[in-house]
Amino acid sequence: MVSEEMYRLGTKKSTIRAIFEYGRRRAAEVGAENVFDFSLGNPNVPAPEFIRDAAVDILMHSAPPEVHGYTIAPGKPEVRETIAADMSKRFDMRVTGKNLFMTAGAAASVTITLKALCEAGDEFVAFAPFFPEYRVFVEAVGGRFVAVPAKTDDFQIDVDAFEHALTPQTKAVIVNSPNNPSGAVYSAQTITRLAHLLRAKEEAYGHPIFIIADEPYRELVYGELTVPCIPNFYDNTIVCYSYSKSLSLPGERIGYIAVPDAVADFDRVYGAVAGAARVLTHVNAPSLWQLVAARCAGLTADLSTYRTNARLLYEGLTAAGFDCMRPQGAFYLFPKALEPDDYAFCERAKGYDLLLVPGTDFGCPGYFRAAYCVGTELIRRALPRFQKLAESYR
Ligand code: PLP
Repeated sequence: MVSEEMYRLGTKKSTIRAIFEYGRRRAAEVGAENVFDFSLGNPNVPAPEFIRDAAVDILMHSAPPEVHGYTIAPGKPEVRETIAADMSKRFDMRVTGKNLFMTAGAAASVTITLKALCEAGDEFVAFAPFFPEYRVFVEAVGGRFVAVPAKTDDFQIDVDAFEHALTPQTKAVIVNSPNNPSGAVYSAQTITRLAHLLRAKEEAYGHPIFIIADEPYRELVYGELTVPCIPNFYDNTIVCYSYSKSLSLPGERIGYIAVPDAVADFDRVYGAVAGAARVLTHVNAPSLWQLVAARCAGLTADLSTYRTNARLLYEGLTAAGFDCMRPQGAFYLFPKALEPDDYAFCERAKGYDLLLVPGTDFGCPGYFRAAYCVGTELIRRALPRFQKLAESYR
């Protein structure tokens, strides 16, 4: 009567969702202040005031159809021109409005891109640890999801393992940096090696292999690091971006796909993006938020809290004995669990009201994710609990 697959997807909660809901039930029992929920990647930093000002000004001074009306499917031309000019300036790349397709956030950007590229039998590669929805997105468009095991010493890409995962059916590889959940930023050296290998395989297989650069955390980077701009390393790169994290607007659903001119057969790829958006009934990105994104091009929320939180949690956890890479970007820490079974470890952490996500969900067993897009004070109060949790293993 209904699609078994859709029923399964709609009713089987993701682990992250299940933990989040457990947290709400537990908060009702012991009080919200006594539950330390590190499960969700929902930005705690408020959207900046200039966003509200821009939205209010647009609503006050624009009449439909300028706001509220349908826009053309790729998005308002002047919005795309403004955003493309800002991208070109910031990333030393050349894109104009015709290269951009406005979307309802990164999930839509990635799914539309996959749908645009996927033909029968195609494979799409992702590097563990990866955003779990990638598998859902790839399978939804009829592709085969291929995971490359994690390189846990530094959470860069294991290029040799990647080479083994490539086949003539490989259509694209999803590259997410800064990374959810590892907090790694792929270095210029990593991207150079990746690009070199992909060019060799394109030549060997006689067809393009695309990089889908999923970059919702592009501006969340710490220390002296910069995030390499992948289209400057590899021509066949399609960038998927969203304002969910950089402007703290996850509920407003706004982002874009950038298909640079250098992408093989640009006209056909961009046309297929438009076709994919059409069959996925995307219609157009929200018109108000297109206008706001253009007004605020190049600006971000105050991301300094994440830097503070990253340092505090990293130092607290390593002092408690956790083995963990210093976070480079995004807002996640991905330490080694204190026992091989990461599910058992996260269950034990619940006993201390610490809500953590097992690494297995990200294709990387034996680790766990702690999202630090939470109040700094909550992290301060949580650290003694992490200490006790670690002591319980000694
Ligand atoms: N890609 C990654 C790596 C993410 O972490 C997320 C959300 O957490 C998304 C895509 C989806 O982002 P959006 O809210 O813009 O759809």
